[in-house]
Order: sequence, then C-alpha cells, then structure tokens
Amino acid sequence: MLPTFTEDHAIFRHSVAAFVGQEITPYVTELEDDGQVPREIFKLLGGLGYLGVRLSEEYGGGGQNFLYTTVLLEELVRCGSVGVAVSIMAHAEFATKVIDRAGSDSLKARFVLPATSGDMIGALGVTEPGAGSDVAAIRTKAVRDGADYVINGAKSFITNGSIADFITLAVRTGGEGHGGVSLIVVPLDGPGITKNRLRKTMCHASDTAELFFDDVRVPIENLLGQEGEGFRLIMEGFEGERLVLAIIACSQMRMLYEAAKNQGIEREAFGQKLLGYQVWQHRLADVLTKITAAETLTYRALNMYVCGENANAEISMAKLFATELAHEIAHECTQIFGGMGLMEETAVARLARDCNGFTIGAGTSEMMRTIIAKSSGLMA
Ligand SMILES: Cc1cc2nc3c(=O)[nH]c(=O)nc-3n(C[C@H](O)[C@H](O)[C@H](O)COP(=O)(O)OP(=O)(O)OC[C@H]3O[C@@H](n4cnc5c(N)ncnc54)[C@H](O)[C@@H]3O)c2cc1C
Repeated sequence: MLPTFTEDHAIFRHSVAAFVGQEITPYVTELEDDGQVPREIFKLLGGLGYLGVRLSEEYGGGGQNFLYTTVLLEELVRCGSVGVAVSIMAHAEFATKVIDRAGSDSLKARFVLPATSGDMIGALGVTEPGAGSDVAAIRTKAVRDGADYVINGAKSFITNGSIADFITLAVRTGGEGHGGVSLIVVPLDGPGITKNRLRKTMCHASDTAELFFDDVRVPIENLLGQEGEGFRLIMEGFEGERLVLAIIACSQMRMLYEAAKNQGIEREAFGQKLLGYQVWQHRLADVLTKITAAETLTYRALNMYVCGENANAEISMAKLFATELAHEIAHECTQIFGGMGLMEETAVARLARDCNGFTIGAGTSEMMRTIIAKSSGLMA
C-alpha cells in the first residue's frame, strides 16, 4: 500500500540534501526578499539532473518515476522557504512534464531539453481573471492565421510568470466548454506580452504574475497534441500537481513539528521546560498523530500513482487533508514559540505563512471534495 524507497532513493536524497544545505538554505532570506528563485539556482539544479528527474532521457531527463520527484521535493522544502520548491516544481513538473508527455519531437527539443538543463524556465498558464476552478470556461483565444496562432487574452496567478522563458498556455481554439480548450507552448520574449508581478501573502520566494497576450503570434507547431486535447492534458497533469502540494504540506508540517519539539525542549517557563508540561506533550502528540495520518494518506496516493492505478480520488483526498491540516498544525506549532513564532526572522513564522494558498492552488479544497464525492457515488 505504501511506496518502497530503495537505497538508490536514499543516495539521491543525501545528494539533494547536501546541495540544498549548501546552495539554497544559506540564501533563503535573500530569495524571499527578491520574490523569485534566481536563474543560477535553476542552472545548478539542471546541471545536477534534478530538474529532469521525471523527464525523458532523450531530452536530458532521468526517466524516473514520481518517487524521485517526492525525494527531491521533500529535500527542497527543507531549505525552509516553500516558495523555492513551488517555483522549481512549477517549472519542471507543471510546465515541462506535459510537453514531455504530449509534445512533438521538435517541441521537446526546443523546450524540454533546455528546461531540463535549467537554460530555460517554464510556467503553466491556465487560470484567468474570469476562470479559475472552472477550467472549461477559459477565454484566452488562439485563432489560426496562416502558419501561426494569434493569441489574445489574460492569465492570472501564474507561478514563475515574470521570470519564465516559456509558458504552457491553455487557450480556446474551438467552441465553448472543455472540448474547445488546447495547450500551446508560447515563448515569453516576443512582442505583445505584458507581465505584471503580483505580491502574495505567502511563498514569497516563488514569483507570481499576471500575463496579458495582445496579438501574440506562435507557430501552429507549438500546439501540444491535437486541438481540443488541452482540457484532458490539464486534468491529467493536475494529478502530479496535487501530489506535489500534498507532499509539500506534509514536509512543511514535519518541519513545523520538529521545530516545535526543539522549542519545547529548549525553552523554559516558570522553572520548567515547556515539554515538562503535560499540556504540550499532549498537544504535540496530537500534532504528530495527525501529521502521520496525512503522510500515510499521501504516500498511499503516491504509491497508487506510481503503480499506474486510478488514483484521482486518493490524490484529491491527500491534497485536501494535508493542505487543510497544515493550517491547524501551523497554529499549534507556532503557539509554543510565543512571540518568537510571529517574527519574520524565524523559520516557523515563514513555514506557517507558507501554509496558506495550498488549499487554493492546483484545485481548491471545494474542488477536491467534489472529485471525491463524484468518485464515491455521493452525488445523488
Ligand atoms: C500561490 C498560487 C500559485 C498559483 N499558480 C498557478 C499557476 O502556476 N498556473 C495557473 O494556471 N494557476 C495558478 N494558480 C491559480 C489557482 O489554480 C487558482 O487560484 C485556483 O484554481 C482557484 O481559482 P480562483 O482563484 O479563480 O478561484 P474561483 O474558482 O473563483 O473560486 C473561488 C471560491 O469559490 C469556490 N468554488 C468555485 N466553484 C465552486 C463550486 N462549483 N462549488 C463550490 N465552491 C466553488 C472555490 O473553491 C473558492 O473557494 C495559483 C494560485 C495560487 C494561490
């Protein structure tokens, strides 16, 4: 029922942990202040093969399954800035994996290869000012004109939006509804594109932007698969994205718990360690129990996913449970820090703040409940 992590995964984990400890953790405050992950980090990660763990070997990837992505992600979160992990996953997993899955050889050579090496940064553009949860309602239009598509419209809340070199863009090439949606890879350095960085209350190190497309021309060959296949490709991709967010939430909670436990051992009040009080022993025992439940649910969904089973409902349960629970765990674990838990300089304050947003991104908690209800015969 749960995935088996081998000795090879352990070696990989050790290498990623060493890299993160040396190249990312010391600079986390800077990255949070800059509001973006610098290109050099993508290049370093690409050079080590980390950006392409799940991408095709022909295009520089490692050809591995999601277990390696899980290890990478868990260790990236350990830098203490969840935005770093979000930015890297939005590039490798959200924007590029779908090109690797559905793109032509020429598209893979032009985008997957440089994305794997870190020479290009990618973003995924689905959400619009007027269409978030309801993906089938997107309005950004791509109209054929000779050998090109001409794109007009807007996208919002796009991770890596202002730093990316390309965007895997959901557009309407056909009529109303999900059957008219396609995915097109759009380079972001051409004319007609305006980028506006947005300021978020969480994940400060991951860049988020709104993008406007005004008569943007891209060759027809930049289409992924066939016209009208976009909605299916987006829904398939959502499984990986939701697993990413469930795993991030579990890793965040684990770190919050570890920090709270240390605080309980180190901090004294009224002549006694905080963990000398039964109230804190019990509160943290509850925290640990709930985190273990979230991890077990998430790993179970992960195992089904890597085994090729239909894991849609289980992934939705994991994403729903872990991301909602993270709010409660963040509250419990910052409470033991007293005033220090609210100071910008502390890792727990940042981790707690970064828990916000994951009940929204890649499908809201309400959408997760709808998927679970649908697959469980709960819709009378
Ligand atoms: C940090 C962050 C990063 C993101 N990165 C990206 C990205 O890289 N690319 C991208 O395309 N998008 C991205 N998004 C957007 C994200 O996918 C959307 O915010 C999300 O899908 C919800 O859409 P919305 O914000 O328009 O909310 P809406 O869809 O308008 O929903 C508003 C509220 O109504 C509820 N609701 C909607 N429909 C129903 C219903 N039928 N029944 C009950 N309740 C309902 C929702 O659950 C929610 O609570 C990101 C969002 C965040 C917060």
